[in-house]
Amino acid sequence: CGIVGYIGERDGLDVVLNGLRRLEYRGYDSAGVAIPSEGAIEWRKRAGKIANLEGEIAERPLPDTTVAIGHTRWATHGAPTDQNSHPHVAGRVAIVHNGIIENHDQLRGELDGVEFASETDSEVAAHLLRAEVEAGKDLVAAMRSVVTKLEGAFTLVAVDATDPDRIVAARRNSPLVVGVGEGEYFLASDVAAFIAYTRDAIELGQDQIIELTRDGVNVTSFDGGPAETKDFHVDWDLEA
Ligand code: GLU
Repeated sequence: CGIVGYIGERDGLDVVLNGLRRLEYRGYDSAGVAIPSEGAIEWRKRAGKIANLEGEIAERPLPDTTVAIGHTRWATHGAPTDQNSHPHVAGRVAIVHNGIIENHDQLRGELDGVEFASETDSEVAAHLLRAEVEAGKDLVAAMRSVVTKLEGAFTLVAVDATDPDRIVAARRNSPLVVGVGEGEYFLASDVAAFIAYTRDAIELGQDQIIELTRDGVNVTSFDGGPAETKDFHVDWDLEA
């Protein structure tokens, strides 16, 4: 339902949790975060309110990070449980997903020998991405290859623990916007998630791959060609 990503110099966990709270109005049944840390993904997720996730993080603290992704879920496939919450982690990658992957059953069938930890449609994307990075592709190329296999509507946001200074996203018929700061970038399903930090934003088009590093944003079409985006400024205010 809601997605937030951050790369920069700030406390990434703090930025992402603040963003998730700003998206609460969209409604959700669970929440989670993932960070790339020393070659492995660290993640926490909990059914129920963001306060439950915060409680879990207070009990099992996460390492300091300046890169993080987060999700609030509105369950479509699989009950609203801890297990079915996002992020979904497969090997060195973690993904969060908004939308519905229509052909998830067929894709599950093609993922021979993979053990699934959830009942979601989303988890197939994590395992497909894992297979591509383990075959040697970088995260952008891996995402490009995964989206060609997916049917349906999706915003996917991913991190790779072995490439921790990058966030990669893909978008088809599901909202996603980039927030632009100085040496820091945000991804969110709604500008409300980041306007406390920046009001400069990039409107994306459909069928695009978005790569964020601390040095900039690179947007391409699914097939690798140039992509049309539009810079804009958020000049309205949110109620507190
Ligand atoms: N279809 C996915 C799920 O049920 C994502 C739902 C969402 O957009 O929050 O986990």
